Amino acid sequence: MREYDAVVIGGGPAGMTAALYLLRAGVKTAMVEKLSPGGQVLMTEKIENYPGFPDGLEGWQLADYFSKQLDLYPHDMLNDEVRSIKVGKPFHEMTVGDEVVRTKSIILATGARYRKLGIPGEQEMIGRGVSYCALCDGNFYRDRTVAVIGGGNSALEESLYLARLVRKLYLIHRREDFRAAVCYQDKCFTNEKIEVVRSTVVDEIVGDTEVKGVAMRNVQTGETSTLEVDGVFIFVGFEPIMDFVPEEVERDQNGILTDNEMLTNIPGIFAAGDIRSKLCRQVATAVGDGATAATSAFSYLEQLED
Ligand code: NAP
Repeated sequence: MREYDAVVIGGGPAGMTAALYLLRAGVKTAMVEKLSPGGQVLMTEKIENYPGFPDGLEGWQLADYFSKQLDLYPHDMLNDEVRSIKVGKPFHEMTVGDEVVRTKSIILATGARYRKLGIPGEQEMIGRGVSYCALCDGNFYRDRTVAVIGGGNSALEESLYLARLVRKLYLIHRREDFRAAVCYQDKCFTNEKIEVVRSTVVDEIVGDTEVKGVAMRNVQTGETSTLEVDGVFIFVGFEPIMDFVPEEVERDQNGILTDNEMLTNIPGIFAAGDIRSKLCRQVATAVGDGATAATSAFSYLEQLED
């Protein structure tokens, strides 16, 4: 049976940073990542607010820098899914794929997955006009008409990317005010391809084998209408990925609860990045969480030795 001092679950910025810090401290560490390292960053066209890159850089490029730096320190990479974790002391026992792995500490860094709207037509037409990734699917809508749903940073940032490809984009938001950063609002509201539809919810995605439009309702007037579009991009937030986390690890609806040192209520289990219950979800904060979690795990391992 494989045995480690630390296992980091998730290969996004939080997980890669945690692993880097642990490995540099000489901790016997493995990483678990079922896909390729990078996380949500890989789905971001350009990152302009990660310090140190005044011209911004593409998401894949930043992920590649993280990954190359981590690879300077030999470590085991388990390319599989964590199915369960059995809490114990000094060893927690994890099932990774079909294998049982023992580890003294765990850093949960699986991030978050996009939230679905849960409206008729959405599930049925995923991949047939409904998308959650502009970078992946935007190209299918060159010179066509799309709707983007949401009012946060993701919706506006992705709208700006899509506007470079499409003929026309309707940005549909359920309120008058947008929560996205003002710099994105300014750019969207002055983009001639983007038409902003405020105080409006989408009740249904209309189509059969592919998207034909969206059925909308103005929440102030109650007026309903249907907008013809070829594609619908949904950016209404994220949900932490914590299905595999044992029930005794405390959480709320926004994610795993930790103290300031990234420790959960279970000794030896830490959380970092978007899986945590927190407000600010940025690459920079994920990196900070990862460094803090690794430092706390290192202290925990030292205490175990004593
Ligand atoms: P978000 O900030 O949670 O925004 C979600 C948006 O979707 C909100 O405008 C919300 O409306 C709307 N929404 C939620 N449920 C809805 C529903 N059922 N029907 C219609 N609209 C709904 O999510 P996000 O934009 O994906 O961003 C997630 C996190 O990542 C945030 O912390 C964000 O700052 C960060 N992020 C940062 C950047 C960047 O810095 N460049 C880029 C992307 C994401 P209300 O406003 O009415 O609640």
